[in-house]
Amino acid sequence: MIGVSFKTWLYKEPRKSVNQPTLGRHHTQYFDYTSYNLPIGKNFRREARRWPNAVVPVLISPGQFNNQEIQVIQTGMREIMSKTCIRFVNYAGSQQHPNYIRVTANNEEDCRSSWIGMRTGEQQLTLGHGANCIHSGVVAHEFMHTLGFWHEHVRFDRDRYVTVMWDNIRNGRNNDNFFMVTQQQADTFNLPYEFDSIMHYIWNLFSIDPSKPTLVSKIQGRQVPRTHRYDLSQLDALKINKAYNCRGF
Ligand SMILES: [Zn+2]
Repeated sequence: MIGVSFKTWLYKEPRKSVNQPTLGRHHTQYFDYTSYNLPIGKNFRREARRWPNAVVPVLISPGQFNNQEIQVIQTGMREIMSKTCIRFVNYAGSQQHPNYIRVTANNEEDCRSSWIGMRTGEQQLTLGHGANCIHSGVVAHEFMHTLGFWHEHVRFDRDRYVTVMWDNIRNGRNNDNFFMVTQQQADTFNLPYEFDSIMHYIWNLFSIDPSKPTLVSKIQGRQVPRTHRYDLSQLDALKINKAYNCRGF
């Protein structure tokens, strides 16, 4: 018994500002380990990596989150639905939904999507209780990975916009979260680099010394964000709508 119904989410929600509940204090630090050691490469642009008809079945693992946490998770999903044609629907079994996302928790310090885009069968989106994942913006960020999007700061052209401070990054150059991806792996849809993307890391994520940055802007007047945003930027929504050929957004 799941105890949560996504049925109403099948319908387009009116555009409105969403509630942005968070739990506890306002968090600025979280840990995000999207697995990159996967055979993503050239397959990224294939339609198979996108969810057919922009419908994404989701199962929130029963018993792993309390009601308040579920509300935050739903708020993150609604944020995507309110600005795009993506529809998260309640997982209805493997017959009807052979491919689906399981939202799960652990006690580790990680918020993670196990895959970029859709894969066959179950794929996991982990919101660890040991980190600050229960934040609707972080939830939306992780769901954007599952829709097929990489981090903004790993775009092929990022060196024009940011400097990566490798010496202050945990595991330094072995930290997969700062590696660039090629144009073949990640379509930028000819949209400009966006510091304010929900897919851009904040300034000191994965730092050894959190008082110092891991990413520094090279563009005068532009800053790497200090806090994680709650909502999709206009360009984030546009990216999704282009990838999924959404009409009317
Ligand atoms: Zn991420």
